[in-house]
Amino acid sequence: MEEERDLFGEKIGPADTPSDPVVRTRSGKDDTLTLHAATLARQINLETLATAVTVSWNPRMRSAAGRAFLKDSRIELNPRLQDLPEEQRADELRRTLLHELAHLVAFERSGQRRIPPHGAEWRQACRDLGIPDEDRCHDLDFQSRRLARKYAYHCPHCRAVIQRVRRLKRRVACYPCCRAHAGGRFDARFQLVERRLG
Ligand SMILES: [Zn+2]
Ligand SMILES: [Zn+2]
Repeated sequence: MEEERDLFGEKIGPADTPSDPVVRTRSGKDDTLTLHAATLARQINLETLATAVTVSWNPRMRSAAGRAFLKDSRIELNPRLQDLPEEQRADELRRTLLHELAHLVAFERSGQRRIPPHGAEWRQACRDLGIPDEDRCHDLDFQSRRLARKYAYHCPHCRAVIQRVRRLKRRVACYPCCRAHAGGRFDARFQLVERRLG
């Protein structure tokens, strides 16, 4: 199988491949993500939580990527997550959902006692949900990463777009197009067009 590469010819790893559920709504309950969260809770034997958990989108949220309402077993997500650059979107959504679910898991396991929001119980839940490296400042992280994207480049031929923090110093052509139409060599017809963001 051929390796997948982005416009710059850089390898695209499995982490960049969006494999998470497709999102269809920006407001109200999301059945797909609710089912997804329930499945995850069931996998770690929290049947009560699996039955109760709901995931919804709240368009009134400001900078927070997500919130967990412990007593209601409810997760709210910020629909701005859907506006993130494509290469970040699936990962950011997955992270946010798991981060918030970890709050519900920790609360459930502690017998619904009051526990420190990002304490040992939460960190254990993160490990069990497959995000052992999750940090506690999800909200700020979401914003700073979002603001970090400064330049967009698009290919005039295939119209693919990619975003970068730093400006490219050299001339770069679209890698997939050069490979498809120019034997893999630089071809000015496919030179990426720069646009400043924000
Ligand atoms: Zn948190
Ligand atoms: Zn192209």
